[in-house]
Amino acid sequence: MQIEKVYEPQRFEPHWAQWWIDSGIFRASPENPGRAFSLVIPPPNVTGILHIGHMLEHTEIDVTVRWHRMIGDNTLWLPGTDHAGIATQMVVARQLKEEGINYRDLGREKFEERVWQWKAQSGDTIKRQMVRLGASCDWSRERFTLDPGLSRAVREVFVRLYEKGLLYRGEYMVNWCPHCHTALSDLEVAHADVAGHLWHIRYPVNGMPGRYLTVATTRPETMLGDTAVAINATDARYLDLHGKTVQLPLMDREIPIILDDLADPEFGTGVVKVTPAHDLNDFEAGKRHNLPKIKVIDENALMTGAAGPYATFDRFVARKSVVADLEKIGALVKIEDYKLSLGKCDRCKTAVEPLISTQWFVRTKPLAGKAIAVVESGEIGFVPANWTKTYYEWMYNIRDWCISRQLWWGHRIPAWHCGECKEIVVARETPTACPRCASLNLTQDTDVLDTWFSSGLWPFSTLGWPDKTADLAKYYPTSLLITGFDILFFWVARMVMMGCEFMGEIPFKQVYIHGLVRDADRQKMSKTKGNVIDPLVVTEKYGTDAVRMALLQGAAPGTDIVLTEERMESSRAFANKIWNAARFLFMNEVGQASGLSGAEGALPIEDRWIVSRLNATAQTANRAIEQYRYHELAQELWKFFWHEFCDWYLELKKVSGTGWGNAVAAFETALRLLHPAMPFLTEELWQRLDLPEGHPKSIALAQYPRYRAELADPEAEKEIAIIQEIVTKIRTMRAYAALDSNALVGPKHQLTGTLRLSECIAGPARAHQQAIQKLANVSLTFADRHAFAQAAAAGSGTTTLKDGILYMNDSEVNFDIELQAQCPQVEVSPEAEAAQRKRLDKEREQLEKNIANSKRQLTDETFLTKAPAKVVDSIRAKLADYEAQLAKLS
Ligand SMILES: [Zn+2]
Ligand SMILES: [Zn+2]
Repeated sequence: MQIEKVYEPQRFEPHWAQWWIDSGIFRASPENPGRAFSLVIPPPNVTGILHIGHMLEHTEIDVTVRWHRMIGDNTLWLPGTDHAGIATQMVVARQLKEEGINYRDLGREKFEERVWQWKAQSGDTIKRQMVRLGASCDWSRERFTLDPGLSRAVREVFVRLYEKGLLYRGEYMVNWCPHCHTALSDLEVAHADVAGHLWHIRYPVNGMPGRYLTVATTRPETMLGDTAVAINATDARYLDLHGKTVQLPLMDREIPIILDDLADPEFGTGVVKVTPAHDLNDFEAGKRHNLPKIKVIDENALMTGAAGPYATFDRFVARKSVVADLEKIGALVKIEDYKLSLGKCDRCKTAVEPLISTQWFVRTKPLAGKAIAVVESGEIGFVPANWTKTYYEWMYNIRDWCISRQLWWGHRIPAWHCGECKEIVVARETPTACPRCASLNLTQDTDVLDTWFSSGLWPFSTLGWPDKTADLAKYYPTSLLITGFDILFFWVARMVMMGCEFMGEIPFKQVYIHGLVRDADRQKMSKTKGNVIDPLVVTEKYGTDAVRMALLQGAAPGTDIVLTEERMESSRAFANKIWNAARFLFMNEVGQASGLSGAEGALPIEDRWIVSRLNATAQTANRAIEQYRYHELAQELWKFFWHEFCDWYLELKKVSGTGWGNAVAAFETALRLLHPAMPFLTEELWQRLDLPEGHPKSIALAQYPRYRAELADPEAEKEIAIIQEIVTKIRTMRAYAALDSNALVGPKHQLTGTLRLSECIAGPARAHQQAIQKLANVSLTFADRHAFAQAAAAGSGTTTLKDGILYMNDSEVNFDIELQAQCPQVEVSPEAEAAQRKRLDKEREQLEKNIANSKRQLTDETFLTKAPAKVVDSIRAKLADYEAQLAKLS
């Protein structure tokens, strides 16, 4: 068997990526046997390229999906992209601008054509990248939210919601972005605290000379649109003014004084101005009191004709003028510094303007009820579980969802306006005439739907709904959703509402929320900070497998993931180690990897040991994937390959020089264990093995090793542990001695030593004398049992009499050391047992304390965000160590 000297993943990764697709390895079919496991991708924006957060998400999904495929489930990972309304429209509009074209001049149809052209050219970027990163999706089922099938589902849902009275068109206060020129949902507005001012303005009360009402506002320009001032019915200071009016300064308009809870006697002067056209709370108050709505700011954030002398001013210019003019006429009482929460468009960062407009809304309360119930009943589970609380908080306070957007790119709203009788027709198919007046003068609503409206249907629209398809029957509800917390409401919550409403069933059974990828200093990655890691750059540099492994190592549930160059480098070294192990195996002509066998059925001890270790690793690996403990999976596989398979097993094999077929069989099993985490390397090596007739064509379709109780071999583990301990101790002593002085004790210098052992340890040690001597480069003699018994008698005063002592009586190295290996206690006096028990209890108590401490630190958010990655890693390592010690102790 030939294998290249150097591990160069760049050479074979693209090959397997394409081969997996060409040979249909990941294609699902509802007809295939096996329990269904399905998962839909959180569709990336078609505008985008993948960032490292995507790579983390896709790696976690891929590990889980590959594992399900290997344990025999009928597995589907459905890929696709989102048309991403605003984001895409902005990208193409910007491109046009660079060509000197204003997209509005182009007209709607031409513009849409341009976007489709652009999508055809660059829309495949995401797919190409995902393929290259090894995502095991079924590309034959790739979907796009604007596909004809998905668009049909969108129309169907819109019409059904309308028919059920769950969808309406109405005048409402919306968040308006004057730059993107569209309404935004609450979720698309980012709030930030900014330093602002409170301007106190006094309004003269009509008919009561010298009497004023003072209001405080953070947006003085809106006073031009005031239609009332409000006082609280319980506020004795002003009650005599009820029924009177004030004169609005600058505009010289008479406006009423109303009683409303909008005015809080405890806050400010207890009087508030009411501007129904430019503030949501005022809008509601306006409805209660039938106040006129005077719109003084328009869709471009310019002042309207209703703003009198300020008409056509920009809103911020108008603010300055209004303040200056108020001061001039003596109406400005004072200006205070004030911290306020300013809403900005999440896309373009323009300050959002609350405006009244006519929009389409989904009545969400009735939908939310079911969506809450399915989480309460446990039908849908969140991992980590604390996200459940966040979900409830939002769901209980949900408000109607504004779904119309004033954009050109997206699903056009299936509603038609009659030019004659003003009837609005909502229909699945384009109507030819008005059903009320038969007029042919019908025009379709110009708005499109919020992007999240279509992605909310993703789990069933992608499987063929509204048709009753075999895919839906087999793969819905999907099994799992892996996604980021930032789209919990945008997307996850909406899918739950839509799934429950239209399928009558939850869209997924579990939601795993992953963390953010951060840099070595636990900083968020951002272009401005310059600490962004580009997945394509690092996969080219270290190989995809190494980057996947590096990401997985940090991917503990509920924590953010630290990714550093060092970690990727060491992961590459790990891959290299496996590569070299394969090279070594392939050079020793090996035989088929069909299964382990020994002479007359008896396996050599090192083979028994590796089988037992593989079995234990399989147990942890299966459990880790099942519980999304990706970090544990990575750590266990690392430990197994590096510290057990390479460091000990292959070394022992070199000494014994026989049973290479067993080594290859063990290696083959280990590759299958590793495959979900490092798919390329494992496929490359697996394909080079001499596999038995009838094997699957890809390791991705081979069986994932399962834990089998009968494979556990504690006897072999104990025996190899004795060899490991003696060799390690001798190596350590050599290292200490070398530190002290000289090169005389370098690895080439053969040491001499004596072992004094109890019978139970002496047996295995003698049996493996050759291996120990070779691995530690030592010449060993065994002191007889009498000598040992005498030594033991001499030390009989102590309670911890060891069963093994190693004397290094070399001219250069002179140490003696007790071994930890112990023989089973045969006879123990009750006093000794009680003492022992007491000591162990104490030890256990201490360990439990340590474990609790580490756990507390690892769940402390403040600590986690502040502590350096290294510290957190070392705490995690310590915790694992404590837990292992405790298990041993128990
Ligand atoms: Zn905007
Ligand atoms: Zn009509």
